[in-house]
Amino acid sequence: MRMETLAVHAGLKVDAATGAVVPPIHAATTFEHEPDSTYPRGFLYSRSGNPNRNALEECLAELEGGAAAAAFASASAATAAVFQALAPGDHVVAPLDAYFGTGKLLRDVFAPWGLAVDFVDMTDLAAVKGALRQATKLVWIETPSNPLWRVTDIAAVAALAHGAGAQCVCDNTATTSALQRPLALGADLVVYATTKYLGGHGDVMGGAVVAARRDAFFERVRTIQTAGGAIPSPFDCWLVRRGIRTLPWRMRAHSDNALRVATFLAAHPRVAAVHYPGLASHPQHAIARRQMTAFGGMLSVQVRGGRDAAFAVAGKVRIFTCATSFGSTESLLEHRASVEGAATRSPDDLLRLSIGLEHPDDLVEDLAQALG
Ligand SMILES: *Cc1c(COP(=O)(O)O)cnc(C)c1O
Repeated sequence: MRMETLAVHAGLKVDAATGAVVPPIHAATTFEHEPDSTYPRGFLYSRSGNPNRNALEECLAELEGGAAAAAFASASAATAAVFQALAPGDHVVAPLDAYFGTGKLLRDVFAPWGLAVDFVDMTDLAAVKGALRQATKLVWIETPSNPLWRVTDIAAVAALAHGAGAQCVCDNTATTSALQRPLALGADLVVYATTKYLGGHGDVMGGAVVAARRDAFFERVRTIQTAGGAIPSPFDCWLVRRGIRTLPWRMRAHSDNALRVATFLAAHPRVAAVHYPGLASHPQHAIARRQMTAFGGMLSVQVRGGRDAAFAVAGKVRIFTCATSFGSTESLLEHRASVEGAATRSPDDLLRLSIGLEHPDDLVEDLAQALG
């Protein structure tokens, strides 16, 4: 089945008890078992398994072309589970421009726990190769990366990782399987913030790990999920699964709108630079064309005049809301450096835009009046 069909149907069936076409939300914490404690209906206790979570996990695995998935309460919990599945002494190669929270987890939690970490420029394959060592177990990639939307060649980095005996994990949050399929390009695991495009409506947090194979490493992630307990609620799983129904169509619209906005901004005299993989001027546009079917809804703009000029634009927009996060129906804008604080690598004149599902002409007109 094709992506649009899977997005509607994967992991779902008409409820056997009632005929409900949309799945009920199973709030129960516990499920009736047999006198000898076997549970032939598959459910025992909601932390170890819940019908809404199972439906979401099945759907995520199918959409991604994977063998299994584990859903978490947030992407940060999913990310932490992948690192916890390693052992102290293992070495990880991660992007210099990893999602801010992923870098923070590695530096503040997993380095003290015993992981060795090197942060490298993932667009520089020689640098990636140079960072690999005997103890390297995992190469983490995130493409396009936040907030400059630089593109990593997934197939090339996965091949380098495999050559060194390491796994390759791809955070696919910014594009989703509707636009980019890391497992098909050689990644072993995909990590998601379902908080973003999968939920798609800015009203639920969640994360997931999707695995190409149901192997020992994935079983460890599963144990960390169920024993550690950072699970999403049944309602959260239901909301994410509902969001996914429209994912391929939303991603197309986000991408079309973002290309319109990026093209407008690139020609504006008050703009110093636009970062969007869909522009021919983007340094990795050729790789983006090869591994993405469209370029997503995220872009950044550097405003002439520095930090104060960027703040002035943020103060004048009317349709865009100044808020962090992305992937929802409403367009958002933020000065990334101030959100990230002292440790930021974001340029001071940069605004990050999450392009929503409003009419593109309204978004362009709003930015035109805000830029002046
Ligand atoms: C938002 C985000 C995360 C973290 O998601 P949470 O659900 O807030 O933990 C991880 N990776 C990327 C790329 C993100 O955008």
